Amino acid sequence: MRSKQGRDAEPRSVIGWDGIRFTVPGDWNLTGVSGDKAHGYLKVDSPGTAFLQVKWTDPGRAAPRTPVQMLERIVRRKFRREATADGPPDLRGMLDAFLKDTEKRSRKIGASFSCKVRPQTEESDGERIALHFSWTGSGQGQGKVWHCRICSRTVIAQVVGQGKDPVANLAARIFGEFRDHGDDGWNTWGAFDMIAAAPSDYVLMAHKFLSGYMRLELTASGKGKIVLERWGLAHLARRKFSLRDWLGQTVGADRYAAVFEEVTLNEHVGVRGAGLVRSPLGVLQAVRDALPSLRPAVEYEACAWECDETNKLYAVQTWQPKASATIMGDLVTRCECH
Ligand SMILES: [Zn+2]
Ligand SMILES: [Zn+2]
Repeated sequence: MRSKQGRDAEPRSVIGWDGIRFTVPGDWNLTGVSGDKAHGYLKVDSPGTAFLQVKWTDPGRAAPRTPVQMLERIVRRKFRREATADGPPDLRGMLDAFLKDTEKRSRKIGASFSCKVRPQTEESDGERIALHFSWTGSGQGQGKVWHCRICSRTVIAQVVGQGKDPVANLAARIFGEFRDHGDDGWNTWGAFDMIAAAPSDYVLMAHKFLSGYMRLELTASGKGKIVLERWGLAHLARRKFSLRDWLGQTVGADRYAAVFEEVTLNEHVGVRGAGLVRSPLGVLQAVRDALPSLRPAVEYEACAWECDETNKLYAVQTWQPKASATIMGDLVTRCECH
């Protein structure tokens, strides 16, 4: 949905991805996303020539691939304090390499290139150290590279445009509200017109963005799985299905849920189902997915509701180990449907 949180009349859209969160003008859209737990890249395009690029690295979250890396990780966890005492990465070196690359691309098309880097600053009450930069060449860019002491992420982000684009204004607005980690143990997942959230220890396993259908699948080791789904044009998508049948058949809750009840979800009539993973194959898979934890996520909960104000259908499913505190209420509330 288009955010109502803008400070002025201009509508803003929320983009949220794995702890990264910012707003862009309402007519900008996410056009590129890639990465894993340790590295990520987002591109957000305006309808015109301006766009935003965000790239982050999170060395502490890289998945170990070799026995040596696994050992390194264990040592790093054991001596976390010493590891963080290594200090921030070489921001200036990273920025120089980035600008060199931008210069090369400008020169390739015969444009002259110049850039400015401001002295390093501390921001957000000392949470971040940052270098602000701007350049002109094939177009113009304004951005910054920073390291966050809280989440140990390094982020480089820039707004790029052509001569007529108000790049400085766009950058000031976007970077003014830019977050690089979740605030209260939850990460926003926002793209296009969906804004949802999940606990920050859940990582994205799969995502699907189709016109009229979006799906995010997240898992957390030892905690379970969350699936968030949203359909556009609810009245067409659901057709003659009741919400109960939609949740049971299309979303698939009939496989697990034994009990369904009508509930109010985000001020809408909704349905909630609860049950267990029962099939031997399902249980086996849950046991395997949980390893090394011995608590398979077999407790199932699902909610579906139709937002009549935006004509969208939402479904949230969770699989958690037995006797876990339910997170469904928070997941539904944080899913901003209207
Ligand atoms: Zn951070
Ligand atoms: Zn709604």
